[in-house]
Amino acid sequence: MLAALAVGGNPSSVHGEGRAARRVMEDARETLGRVFEVRPDDITFTSGATEALHLAMHSARAQGFSPVLVSAVEHDAVWALASELWPEFETIPVDASALIDVDWLKARLATLSPGKRPLVIAQGANNETGTIQKLDAITTMTRAAGGSVLCDAVQMAGKTKVSSFTGMADWLVVSSHKIGAPMGAGALITLPGTAIVNVRPGGGQERGARAGTENVPAIAGFAAAAAIACTDNAVESFACLTTTERNNFEQALVRELEITIIGQSCRRLGNTSCVSAPGWEAARQVMALDLAGAAVSAGSACSSGKVKTSRVIAAAGHDVAIATSAIRASFGWNSTPGDGERLARLYLAAASRAGLKLHEKV
Ligand code: PLP
Repeated sequence: MLAALAVGGNPSSVHGEGRAARRVMEDARETLGRVFEVRPDDITFTSGATEALHLAMHSARAQGFSPVLVSAVEHDAVWALASELWPEFETIPVDASALIDVDWLKARLATLSPGKRPLVIAQGANNETGTIQKLDAITTMTRAAGGSVLCDAVQMAGKTKVSSFTGMADWLVVSSHKIGAPMGAGALITLPGTAIVNVRPGGGQERGARAGTENVPAIAGFAAAAAIACTDNAVESFACLTTTERNNFEQALVRELEITIIGQSCRRLGNTSCVSAPGWEAARQVMALDLAGAAVSAGSACSSGKVKTSRVIAAAGHDVAIATSAIRASFGWNSTPGDGERLARLYLAAASRAGLKLHEKV
């Protein structure tokens, strides 16, 4: 990234500095192609996952898919635009773990008359609960029904092996800041020959797919981080480190408090814990823990600083008391042994101050 900052040129300029910046960007594209096992030409850089998802959704819409089936637990970046582009879209239900109901999907696909081309929008893993979706099954059944899959793999990259999502979607979206790189870069990965509909006219960057000068240093960081964080070994170490801390956190809570752990009974990302202590409002938990020095979230972190009831937890069928009290703790590469128990101590002390009854005094 420092080298990319030193280059300084605009990758669309034809002078030497511009060509040097273009080289940095194309090297990054090649690295990401190697990491994600796709052709570099099939990678379109964007400002982040939201833009990549929107590019994919507009491009899919231009292809006239019908019906459009969207999982109930998609990120707001998908959810908000889906209803604009396809007011008639259908929601794929999820179970209590926020796991997409593949039996429902299979049955719905089976009802389609010949010639129908369904579009399924299904995330790889959920950002609030860590639930790992059955992407392989979803893609296999959708393609067998003549349809295509758009997958938000933002939470999978760096946390599950590349083989668990690459090649599993017709449009695949990844984001740099979820794998330890800076904010401000993302990518849309498409199948060879996919036409991308430009919804942001202007400079015609990325072969005309979108406009706006690329964030070259962030893109360089994105590729560098992907090369390190997305190898099978790195993913395994990440899972090992974070799962231990996550489990220690959850077990300490279960010992002391009436708590619901969402997604506990299914495959989920090692780093994510979604817990709900009914009666203790999520916004209050976030504030109490912030004051105690721990950063946790309620809902997705992207809601402009607002703490609101989790749409994902409500979609998973939990009652209002659980949905309004659910918070998410994420462990990461910089977690250290003992963090899980430390967070549990802070959580339990804050719960006690908030008047929740603990099984033993902490
Ligand atoms: N999709 C998922 C699953 C996410 O977790 C996020 C961000 O948290 C996004 C999309 C949006 O990503 P970005 O902030 O890069 O636009």
